[in-house]
Amino acid sequence: MEIIVNGAPKAVIVLPAEAAPDEQLAARELNAHLKLMSGAELPVASVRPAAGGVVLLGAAGGGGLAARVRARSDDPAAFAIEVAGDTAAVAGVSPEGVLFGVYELLEQLGCRWYMPGDFGRVVPQSATVALRAQATVQAPAFRGRWFTVAGARDEAGSAWQRRVRMGGPFFPPAHGIAPFKATAGDRLFEEHPEYFSEVRGKRLKRQVCLSNPEVLQLAVAQTKAWFRANPGQPWMGMGPNDGGGFCECAACRALDGDDFDPFSNERSVTDRYVWFFNQVLKGIEDEFPDRKLCFYIYHSYMRPPVRYKPDPRICGAFAPISLCRVHGMSNPVCPNRSYYARLMEAWGKILPELYERGYCFNLACPGFPFSRVHVLRDEIPKALAFGIKGWRVESVPHWGSLSPTFYVAAKLMWDPAADPDALVRDFAERFFGPAGAPMHSYLARMDAALRDADHHTGSSFNMPDFYPPALRAAARRELEAAARLAPDAPFAARVAAFRLTFDALEAFIAMLDARNAQDWAGAKAAHDRVMALGAEAYRHDPPLMSERAFTSYMRRFWSQATLDGFARVSGENRFVAGLPDAWDFLLDPQGLGEELGFFRADLTGGNWRPLRTSSASWGDQGLYDYRGVAWYRARVAVPAEFAGRPLRLWFGGVDEEARVWVNGALPKLLTAIANREVVPGDSPGRAFVPFEYDVTDLMKAGQENTIAVKITNKQVNEMGTGGITAPVMIYSPGR
Ligand SMILES: [Zn+2]
Ligand SMILES: [Zn+2]
Repeated sequence: MEIIVNGAPKAVIVLPAEAAPDEQLAARELNAHLKLMSGAELPVASVRPAAGGVVLLGAAGGGGLAARVRARSDDPAAFAIEVAGDTAAVAGVSPEGVLFGVYELLEQLGCRWYMPGDFGRVVPQSATVALRAQATVQAPAFRGRWFTVAGARDEAGSAWQRRVRMGGPFFPPAHGIAPFKATAGDRLFEEHPEYFSEVRGKRLKRQVCLSNPEVLQLAVAQTKAWFRANPGQPWMGMGPNDGGGFCECAACRALDGDDFDPFSNERSVTDRYVWFFNQVLKGIEDEFPDRKLCFYIYHSYMRPPVRYKPDPRICGAFAPISLCRVHGMSNPVCPNRSYYARLMEAWGKILPELYERGYCFNLACPGFPFSRVHVLRDEIPKALAFGIKGWRVESVPHWGSLSPTFYVAAKLMWDPAADPDALVRDFAERFFGPAGAPMHSYLARMDAALRDADHHTGSSFNMPDFYPPALRAAARRELEAAARLAPDAPFAARVAAFRLTFDALEAFIAMLDARNAQDWAGAKAAHDRVMALGAEAYRHDPPLMSERAFTSYMRRFWSQATLDGFARVSGENRFVAGLPDAWDFLLDPQGLGEELGFFRADLTGGNWRPLRTSSASWGDQGLYDYRGVAWYRARVAVPAEFAGRPLRLWFGGVDEEARVWVNGALPKLLTAIANREVVPGDSPGRAFVPFEYDVTDLMKAGQENTIAVKITNKQVNEMGTGGITAPVMIYSPGR
């Protein structure tokens, strides 16, 4: 059915007389894209003309088509399209369905929205536009389909979400229990500390003392008040505040099921919360018998309850932060992630309504290339089989590398049977035009690299392992070929956008290589290049790397050690010696090391084994989940020329606390640490922050010196890091 011929409209859009906002938006979106495509728009009328082509939206097409949709699904996003003769009709279960039906028509015409705004929009050029004859009915497989991409809630971001058919139930935020939330003031805590968690004998505002009957009464009253104030809401979020600090009082502990969560290294508190939610639901039942409570399956309440049966009005959303984010649940390379399938299966047996609110990005990474297509193709169909009702996926706007992932995710949330390979090819061919072939092989290569890598550390620690030199060389050749094949707008800028994040990756790896070689000038130069490329990426519209993620994670994990290390060997200061990457290493789970003198200069024996430090994480070396004490020892020669000169022992960072001995003695810590008493020999106790000691009197120039480091790694660490995480060196300060 030709609706535009040689730039002239040949049909009329007919809207119902009292069209809903989404139906009006559907007409505007159809015309806006037809205009970009052909230069022409269709006239819009509220009454069907006596003759000629028509595109009937919503009720303008009569009730028959809408009834056909309803026979298939009651999902508000469902729609039907019928094109026959000179009549096209789009109907939905709701006005949203009409809008999504129009997006389906535009996609059939070749339109795509790979990123927010004009940059990510693909509209083919054609003076003649024809709809194909069809009788299409579509309904989404998952009722809830949402990306919470930080920064994508502006106008362009919201428009993008709708164009990729995000919608449905939005799982509510579920941290905290009113009126005890972490975000509430301190007044209630000051008046009633007994309402809050007892931790090591002290009441803290961290969590709530769930077993206190007054706490339950207040929570019931607040929940009722909230539902009265929000009459349209079917559910409300409730749960622990983010972080730990659960009540240790005898009555709260008596509510637990004596289950331990090895991933968070804490007792599982699922049972006490299930008990509490059950009581709250009972408490509001007289007034709100059908409202639901939503909580996150997360942290030390990730494992299913072992003691209490949850009320079916409890809804859960999986937020498996302590499981690997690189791999999918059936990827044989990742035993850790396979636990996710067991969790989904177990919770699916006890709760009727479950959602997924996982992490669709490389957690704590500044935004280097990362693809999760291989995860989505594995986990989205499995989630449907496990009974998951919807998605509210957390991500960050790293559009320069994650946009194919977002595109595939949106499509699979709608239809898990869609072919991910075809979708990535579609992305490459339409978005990069003449550069489609090399860009497709680049995207597929980078995705497969992550899928197949036996590396699971968070942040950017594994970038050199995911993308080794030969792979990067091949990827670089593909990007260069793409740039040659697409010299013109808009394709050149699109290739350049993806190349920018790859350039940032290469500069980042160059920085790590230089640091590992104790080449601090080289590391500083590469660091500055990463920062410049990052700034170019996050100033792009849409951002190719998220400004917030890039700046905060570069600072937290990488910049401090690189810039501080460079400063230590610049100006009047002199580099003396670098400690090796591999140290002798020993686990000390019982904490016996100090008694046994593991710090002694003359220690021999004891089955120490080599472990890499700045070039490989604990996770890379079989210690992903180790929490406890461990020891490192190394020997370092100080050249004779430094006799009589001041000497400093500098650490680029440890995870978490370190105690350091030099030739068997504790050196003086020089780093000033705010708000913490500095004990000689102790480190800051803050991961990834450089610190240093005065070792002038303890180190001997002209001979080998022994350095011993006791690491205490206690906290939950969803990253898989631990111990010495950055280079260690000795320098001599100038004046
Ligand atoms: Zn308690
Ligand atoms: Zn993994």
